[in-house]
Amino acid sequence: MILDMKGIFKDYTSDKLVVPVLKDVSLAVDSGEYVAIMGPSGSGKSTLMNIIGCMDRATSGTYLFEGKDVSKFNERQMADLRLNSIGFVFQSFHLLSQETALENVALPLSYAGIHRKERRERAREALERVGLADRVDFKPTQLSGGQKQRVAIARALVNHPQIVLADEPTGALDSASGRQVMELFSKLNEEGTTIVMITHDAGIASHAKRRLDIIDGMIHEERKGE
Ligand code: ADP
Ligand code: MG
Repeated sequence: MILDMKGIFKDYTSDKLVVPVLKDVSLAVDSGEYVAIMGPSGSGKSTLMNIIGCMDRATSGTYLFEGKDVSKFNERQMADLRLNSIGFVFQSFHLLSQETALENVALPLSYAGIHRKERRERAREALERVGLADRVDFKPTQLSGGQKQRVAIARALVNHPQIVLADEPTGALDSASGRQVMELFSKLNEEGTTIVMITHDAGIASHAKRRLDIIDGMIHEERKGE
């Protein structure tokens, strides 16, 4: 099992007012799964994703990542886990606009201390995997939205993470580009990549093999055939 969360609560506190956002969320994800978490705006999707991705901590509950108790990790261990084990894909791509596709994809490898020649080789391979071998030297402004997201997916894959987390990966794309990104996710999952994707779009969620709904901070598994 890659993710094993039990009884996760998350509150935000502002002006001494406690706002409960996640209310007793349990979620287990095995290696090789492709899971969509669906829910309306404000239901707690990004809050959950930030906890899964070790960008934030739960208020209470247990979270094991590959059996390791993440709640006991210090900041450094959280950062190492994010760098080595998790690939992130965001709605707004989060690419560096002054850098080429190759440099953007190679960036996590430089944080991992890998030398330039190997960085460039591995970034090129990742871009080939997402169908952008002919765009390695293009900057984000020279790419379409769908191509930018494929660069971001290549960057998410370049460290060979145990899991890819995608928060509304098609939210900024037209429907044709969104479909291409979904085709790519299906291909990557068939090749063995574990994916957890967040979306408010049922059509996008239907590409995943397993679907969960999050409503008002509580998670519900969709039964087969629904
Ligand atoms: P979603 O991604 O499903 O749209 P979020 O997880 O971003 O929802 O937010 C869920 C709720 O938590 C919202 O009501 C939002 O206002 C609140 N929230 C999110 N982040 C913070 C924060 N840093 N401080 C206070 N409230 C927050
Ligand atoms: Mg969100």
